[in-house]
Amino acid sequence: MKNLTKTKWFTFGTYLLLVLATLLIGFVTLQNNSTLRNVFISFFEVAENRTFDYRQTIKVYHKHPIPNNDIVFLAIDEPSLEYLWNKYGEWPIPRRVYADMVNYIEKQKPQSIVFDLLFLKSLKSDIQGEKYFVETMNKYDNIYTGLNFDDMTPDVRTPIDLPERIELKIDNKSNVNFKNKYGMQNCRPIMPELLNGKVHVGITNIVRGSDGIIRVVSPVLQYKDKFYPYLSFKAGNDYLKMSHDNTLVIDKKSNMHVAQTKIPLTKDGDAILNWYGKAGTHTTIPFYMIEKEMIGKAGTKFDFKDKIIIIGTTAQALHDTKSVPIQDDVYPGAEVQATFLNNMLDDNFIHKTGTFANFLIILAVIAIVGSIAMFSTSTLFVTLSTILFTIAYLFISYYVMELYNVWIPVIVPIIAIVLAYTLSLLTKYLLKSRDFEYQYKLATIDGLTELYNHRYFQDTLKQQMDIARRYNQSVSLIICDIDFFKKFNDTYGHQAGDAVLRQVAQTLKKNSRTTDYVCRYGGEEMSIILPNTKAEEALMLANRICAAVAEKPFHLTPVDTAPVTISLGVSTFPENAQTPQDLIEWADKGLYYAKEHGRNQVGRY
Ligand code: GH3
Ligand code: MG
Ligand code: MG
Repeated sequence: MKNLTKTKWFTFGTYLLLVLATLLIGFVTLQNNSTLRNVFISFFEVAENRTFDYRQTIKVYHKHPIPNNDIVFLAIDEPSLEYLWNKYGEWPIPRRVYADMVNYIEKQKPQSIVFDLLFLKSLKSDIQGEKYFVETMNKYDNIYTGLNFDDMTPDVRTPIDLPERIELKIDNKSNVNFKNKYGMQNCRPIMPELLNGKVHVGITNIVRGSDGIIRVVSPVLQYKDKFYPYLSFKAGNDYLKMSHDNTLVIDKKSNMHVAQTKIPLTKDGDAILNWYGKAGTHTTIPFYMIEKEMIGKAGTKFDFKDKIIIIGTTAQALHDTKSVPIQDDVYPGAEVQATFLNNMLDDNFIHKTGTFANFLIILAVIAIVGSIAMFSTSTLFVTLSTILFTIAYLFISYYVMELYNVWIPVIVPIIAIVLAYTLSLLTKYLLKSRDFEYQYKLATIDGLTELYNHRYFQDTLKQQMDIARRYNQSVSLIICDIDFFKKFNDTYGHQAGDAVLRQVAQTLKKNSRTTDYVCRYGGEEMSIILPNTKAEEALMLANRICAAVAEKPFHLTPVDTAPVTISLGVSTFPENAQTPQDLIEWADKGLYYAKEHGRNQVGRY
């Protein structure tokens, strides 16, 4: 029992070594070959991102997390667009409409009004209306508007300088790098009265993944070596800090701190969004209903007190749709802003586990699967357990995201499970076959002399006699016994006796043919089965062995030697006997004859 446990641990150790070796080989291969490495990494990334999307989708069907009611989305939707078209005849609508709305909403003391719209400087038709709009926007302290970076080259349009008041000051203690990764080197100029006024300005650029899906938002964007806030980040920052303080701290662990909220950043400075549901999940009011309410035709009254109001378009005709992780769904840009803001307000951004944690997870997975495989004897059990474990891991990865907003890896651990499963079974079978060889050796070989043991001798003799009978051949048998060995032991001790026994065994082996079976018969008696050997040949061989032993000096210790002689008896099938027992008896008789006639010789009865 003790030995069995030991073997299992040995197997487990070998398995771990095998896994580590495989990982090392994989690691080194991927390190050296950058193309292969990139293919691998992008494959893992794309697959891992898909698992994120599925987790987010299921979570949303579980109604988790719950959207924040303080965020109200004022949507220029399909009916609103139709209403506005009918009323104002074109898109974009005159800017005084927004000014009227701002004045109307501000009476209710909202937290802030965030326009996910760009007020570009081109419109000139309604000079009075424009002036009224700019004055209104700059009258309040809680209005936010968008600015968009683009990739226009400076020869097409000179990049403008942005005012210092909208800049972010960052105290970055981490290795997060906000370097402009989207090729955005220019920005669309919005009305200078807004840009240089009192209204708060944030960036509306959204980052798509390589597959076109939006999973992250960059709260900080770089332009001309300076940093600017994402639109809803700016609104959230002011809300949480209860001030317009534009300084940011990023700690060593890449978390950005905004009051009590922690925004975990990737090494590119992105925040991973946690989604609340399909598009329209935030409290949404169609834009035209406010218009109606303002002229007293709505019949309802909306409550905007202390709310953060995001104004943006959802109408298909204005195409502002983005693919998101929620399956079969697209979001308007303004609702991505709402989602980011909600993550900020409720401090529930997704946190992706780091390299070290991932390493520990993979190590644990390998150890668990390896243990199941090593300590169970049934392959079926191991296979079923591994499948169950994989399913359990998927559930865990889901619930960790639902309950703790943590993204643990799925793809690499599952590959590790498959690898661990395969390698553990491989190790087990390799070691089992090796163990079988060892057991076979234990059962057939004598430990002291390393000759075949008595049982093997008996089996082989019978087998060889059967073969000889079948093919009309001869089998000879030599039995030998060391002379005066009792005395030898008494004189030199049993240790020296054992050493001599081993050396006699070696001499016998050396002087017989590879087809012969040299066995330890018992005590200091040895036997040689000679297949397909006639009596004369056997006698010659016995004499040769007798002489070889007599001539050889035997080592008692590395320095001391002593002479040893043996006596031998020979018998042959079919002349002397028909059964193994008789053949042995005849050889024994020959041996007695040799002993009686002076020893150190071959006797034949
Ligand atoms: P002879 O055969 O010449 O008549 O005299 P002997 O003294 O050799 O007599 P016998 O064959 O009866 O004695 C066998 C002795 O061999 C007894 C025992 O001390 C010794 N012997 C048997 N097996 C071993 C062994 O494994 N190691 C050692 N050192 N001695 C052994
Ligand atoms: Mg003996
Ligand atoms: Mg003897």
